[in-house]
Amino acid sequence: MSTRVAVLGAGISGLATAYYLQRHGITPVVFESSNEIGGLGSVFRHDGVAIERFYHVMLNSDRYLMRLLRDLHLHESVRWTKTGMGFHIDGKLYPFNTPMDLLKFGALSMMDRVRTGAGALALSRMNDAEGLDQVPVDQFLRQRFGDSAFEKIWLPLLRAKFGDLYSQVPAYWFWSRMRREKSGGPEVKGYIEGGYRRIANAVEGAIESRGGVVRRNAAVESVINDARGALIRANGVEERFDAVVSTLPLPQLRKIAQGSLQPEVPCPDLAYQGVVNVVMVSKEPLQPYYWNAVVNPRFPFQGIVETTRVIPARWTKGKHITYLMNYCQPGSEAYERPDDVYRYQAINGLKRLYSTFNEDAVEATYVFRAPYVEPVWPVNYLQNRPPSQIPYTNVFLCTTAHAYPQVNAWNTSIGLAKDTAKKVASHVRSFARIESQGEAAVAA
Ligand SMILES: Cc1cc2nc3c(=O)[nH]c(=O)nc-3n(C[C@H](O)[C@H](O)[C@H](O)COP(=O)(O)OP(=O)(O)OC[C@H]3O[C@@H](n4cnc5c(N)ncnc54)[C@H](O)[C@@H]3O)c2cc1C
Repeated sequence: MSTRVAVLGAGISGLATAYYLQRHGITPVVFESSNEIGGLGSVFRHDGVAIERFYHVMLNSDRYLMRLLRDLHLHESVRWTKTGMGFHIDGKLYPFNTPMDLLKFGALSMMDRVRTGAGALALSRMNDAEGLDQVPVDQFLRQRFGDSAFEKIWLPLLRAKFGDLYSQVPAYWFWSRMRREKSGGPEVKGYIEGGYRRIANAVEGAIESRGGVVRRNAAVESVINDARGALIRANGVEERFDAVVSTLPLPQLRKIAQGSLQPEVPCPDLAYQGVVNVVMVSKEPLQPYYWNAVVNPRFPFQGIVETTRVIPARWTKGKHITYLMNYCQPGSEAYERPDDVYRYQAINGLKRLYSTFNEDAVEATYVFRAPYVEPVWPVNYLQNRPPSQIPYTNVFLCTTAHAYPQVNAWNTSIGLAKDTAKKVASHVRSFARIESQGEAAVAA
């Protein structure tokens, strides 16, 4: 009988893990609780246009994603666009892309602008930054950019991303993020015709064409590890597998892990950050850049992303799609705030920020929440990162908590999935060898 491995979750981590498991001759069965695949990259529909619930674009440095797209013959469907970012501060929008932009950045004194430029340049040239894992990011940024630039720019951005837990995050996270987003050259971002849904569907098609299975509406209710593999219960039915790969956020796996597995799920104290996205569909564009950081205590969003600065207009029937995001802790007031309040805050906030904003052009606003975007990484995380296999079990982990120090993105998830599939294959092969040696010994 072929080796069967259960994969929990059909976000990109689960789909890519299943895809690569098949390359090792393993038959994957993917369990997905929702009726859609793609996880955080899944879509909703507006007037016949499929739109990601959470903004998603790719970078030309996303090598695992590009490799997968080439395998699936999709790479020629990606359109690349030069983009940029702006910084909304003190009631003004500044471009924030070139050294010249920085020199004109009126929110800082001239001395701080020069210091910020020099600090950013030194950071981009830093190749071996592992030591930064032990340095709190606020301490590092204050030291590198000076007190006033830290208070004015970095502190609000850190608070925006991690709330009050920002001071536990290592400087290594910041370095890795800067390297991914600002690698020196002009900013170029990509989007695939048909959207991220098309990638998920193509991976699913490849899995199913080779005998694998993707089950929707199949929430896993329990996982039990035993000497022969693992038992998975979904929709009241229990099934045996040779191993399991969980791509669920660790707190979600902890809820469904049973018996001796439950206390072994790693990182019980790891906090996760959530996000609320307001998606606005409009007949008119909003801003000149893909992304604007916003530092304004009266505006309850830390950034505004207009994906149609990257997505060609003909792919969205000419509609302009803008996301306003509020990163916040799941369970907090900001996370639980009613949709109508968010809609009101979005529209009124945009009126104040952009004199050209035309409310009448807005066709609709939608509100989406995700409780587990990524962990709030604590200092020294390299030492405390969760393992890719729960020790002495048949349960493997391939989750957003494993991404660090890479930035959480589809590219990172695909790279992790490839690695995990290799480890699972080696595990089930050595397990099969031990079993057949045992049988031979009994027969002799
Ligand atoms: C606001 C935002 C913007 C982003 N922007 C980008 C971007 O521009 N580019 C980029 O590459 N990445 C981006 N990302 C990151 C990217 O979406 C994630 O890194 C990636 O999707 C993680 O994939 P995953 O499969 O690990 O997790 P998820 O996508 O969260 O998938 C987990 C899956 O498990 C399922 N599940 C949960 N519980 C169960 C259960 N009990 N049984 C079965 N299934 C279950 C869920 O329904 C879900 O489908 C963004 C994320 C957010 C939130």
